[in-house]
Amino acid sequence: MSRLEVLRDPAVMQTRALAWRRAGRRIGLVPTMGYLHPGHISLVRLAREQADVVVVSIFVNPTQFGPREDFATYPRDFARDLELLGAEGAITVFAPEAAAVYAPDASVQVCEERLASCLCGATRPGHFRGVLTVCAKLFHLALPDVAAFGRKDAQQLRLIEQMVRDLNFPLAILPGPIVREPDGLAMSSRNVRLPAAHRAQATCLHRALRTIEQAAARGERRTAALEALLRATIATAPDARLEYAELRDWHTLAPAPAQWHAPTLAALAVHFGDVRLIDNTLLTAS
Ligand code: AMP
Repeated sequence: MSRLEVLRDPAVMQTRALAWRRAGRRIGLVPTMGYLHPGHISLVRLAREQADVVVVSIFVNPTQFGPREDFATYPRDFARDLELLGAEGAITVFAPEAAAVYAPDASVQVCEERLASCLCGATRPGHFRGVLTVCAKLFHLALPDVAAFGRKDAQQLRLIEQMVRDLNFPLAILPGPIVREPDGLAMSSRNVRLPAAHRAQATCLHRALRTIEQAAARGERRTAALEALLRATIATAPDARLEYAELRDWHTLAPAPAQWHAPTLAALAVHFGDVRLIDNTLLTAS
C-alpha cells in the first residue's frame, strides 16, 4: 500500500497542517518544481531527520519564470515523481493547480531588492519575487517547523533565509549539499534537456569550481585571479555561453573584495543552447 497522500487543495493542505501542529507533530517541508532527482530526495531525507511529517510540494510556479523562459518546456512527470517518493516512506505530496494558488486579482508579493539584484536576479527580473512569494505561501499552507533547500540554488537559499529572518517566519531552514552526477554535473531537472554533445561539455561548470577550490587551497587570495580561472575553464567548452562567473560575499552577496575572505560564494551561470545551468561552491578559509 502506498504511503503517499496527494493533496491538491491549498485549504485542505492548511487544515491538515494545523491538525498536525495541534497534535504536536513537527512538520518538514521540501518545496520542489517536480521532475524529481536524487538532489530532491536528499532534501526529503534531510527534512525527515528533523520532522515527524514530511510534505513535498510539487508546483511549477509560473510567477518565477520570465516571459521568454522555459515554463512551457520545463520537464514534468508527476507519475514518476510519485514513484520516486513512494520509496521514501510516508510523505504528503502537495501538488496544487496554479489557479488554486493565485487569486486572479492577487496583488501582494514578497520583494527583496538587495540580495536579489545580482547574479541570477540581474538577468531574471522578477524571478526571486516569484520564488519568495510562492515560498511564503507554501510556508503558510504547510506550516513547517523546518524547510529544506538545496545549496545548488545558493542565491535562492540566501534569500529564503533572509525572508524567514526579516518576516519572522517561525521555522528553520535546512540547507542541503549539492548532489552531483558521477562526472560532477550538478543534478538538475533541466539536465534532461541537454543534447548529448552539450551534456558532455556541461562538466565544465564543476571543473571550473574544483579548479578554483584547489587554487584557493593553495593560497590564491586574489578574487580577480579566481574569476579569471572560472572564465578560462568555461571557455574550454566550445558551446558554452557564460552568463556570469563571480565571487561574492556569502552574507551580503556584494562583490568579493580584491582579496576574498571566507565565506565567499563562487557562482556560475552558463548557457548551452536554450538550457541554462547554474552551479556554485562556498569558499571557506584556505
Ligand atoms: P527545483 O525543483 O529545481 O525548484 O528544486 C527544488 C529544491 O531542490 C531546491 O531547494 C533546490 O535547491 C534543490 N535542488 C535542486 N537540485 C539539487 C541538487 N543537485 N542538489 C541538492 N539540491 C538540489
